[in-house]
Amino acid sequence: MNRKFYIILLALGFFVNIGIQSKAQFLDDEFCGNNEILNLDVRKKPWKGANSFLYDYLKKINYSDDIDSIRYLVPLKFWIYQNDDGSIGLSDSTLKRFMDELNYYQQLNKTGFRYYIREIERINKTKRIKLGYFLEAPWQSFVHKDKGCINVFVTQTIKKRVWGEKYMVRGTFNTVTDAVLIQYNSSTTGLSHEIGHYFGLLHPHRNYNKGKAKQESVSRTRAFKGIFKKGLICEKNGDGLADTPAEPKLSHLVNNDCEFIGKSLKDRWGDNYQSKTDNIMSYPTHYRCRKVFTEGQKAVMLYSASQNKYAPFWTTAQAENLVYRFDKYEPDNNKETATIIDINTVQQHSFHKIFIPENDKLVFDKEDWLTFQTENTKGKTINITLNYQNTDNKQLSIIIFDEYMHLLKEKKVSQNKTTINLPIKTSAKSQYFILIKNNKNPVNHAFIYQISVQIL
Ligand SMILES: [Zn+2]
Repeated sequence: MNRKFYIILLALGFFVNIGIQSKAQFLDDEFCGNNEILNLDVRKKPWKGANSFLYDYLKKINYSDDIDSIRYLVPLKFWIYQNDDGSIGLSDSTLKRFMDELNYYQQLNKTGFRYYIREIERINKTKRIKLGYFLEAPWQSFVHKDKGCINVFVTQTIKKRVWGEKYMVRGTFNTVTDAVLIQYNSSTTGLSHEIGHYFGLLHPHRNYNKGKAKQESVSRTRAFKGIFKKGLICEKNGDGLADTPAEPKLSHLVNNDCEFIGKSLKDRWGDNYQSKTDNIMSYPTHYRCRKVFTEGQKAVMLYSASQNKYAPFWTTAQAENLVYRFDKYEPDNNKETATIIDINTVQQHSFHKIFIPENDKLVFDKEDWLTFQTENTKGKTINITLNYQNTDNKQLSIIIFDEYMHLLKEKKVSQNKTTINLPIKTSAKSQYFILIKNNKNPVNHAFIYQISVQIL
């Protein structure tokens, strides 16, 4: 798409947004700002009006809800807005929490997706840490856009102003630039929700305030009766998925126990709503109620991913992509994001490659940081053991620091099993850092190693 056309689209999005937003009934509860724009999403959806397409697809790819089979390793590029002097930004440790939460909900729901950080770019611009929703946000996501990954923009606030009223948008997905935008203080499911949009999901309450032509009916068997419109209403209206019950916007309809309290509300056909409150794509009063992706939603995401231009580089079905196989402790590339390793436990880590299209630079995971604490163990010895299966084992080194980053020991990993012993000189509580350094690009496969810390 050329630049001029893009700008026209952005401007169009701007006006259409204003027009539709003015009709919305609940203006005080914006969570994810893209509901209006998604109404105009014209991308082809073969499951619309025929959800059987999704279940056939799951069968075709041998999807099973019992197995957490990882099918796509998707890189994310983070663009983090902060002050001119670099202050007020998303810290690395918060970013690690974002990633942990994102992957936690993927694992919980066995979505088949895992996400890793491709790159973090910090933009020091005070005037951008409060990003305007209608123009600034789409514009920023247009000028900063990398290929082969999902671009995620993180800022302090996303401001939305409609007819003089101000709203805070916690996160949004821009269908024109395909970008995810999210505030520093996003909910635990915030990224899962926005990336859900990236992979084709709509809000279950979509068009809840519209007429019979667009509103999703509570009944799962109610069908269109017209000459031109056929099929089940629940498979066409709303989010177009029969396995997410019809729901009004849940912002004021969920109690502290995550129960739906809008059962007296009726749809346009007179049926009472029986909504759930736990869907990640919904807007329940309390975001902590959200934890579920339904089978239909997972199918939409998996199918959409398979249609992505970069699917051949994200899919684990290609043996050569195993080089991108990262471990569940990522990101842990610096002291701030060091993974806590409990004494007497074993962790398995890997050094993986990072997918960047059309890039001949060698981009790979170079450092893993771990941390642990000791207390009341004066006179004993810390024993760190690293097991490493790779035959070419000269590329790793292991470095130990104390909490003030004084170097305590450094050792090249020269055998498949390498141990380090450190005498403990104090009975006070002290923290240690372990740095495992990878000095070589993993060409064919990710390097896997196990590490454990014992006090002997
Ligand atoms: Zn949303």
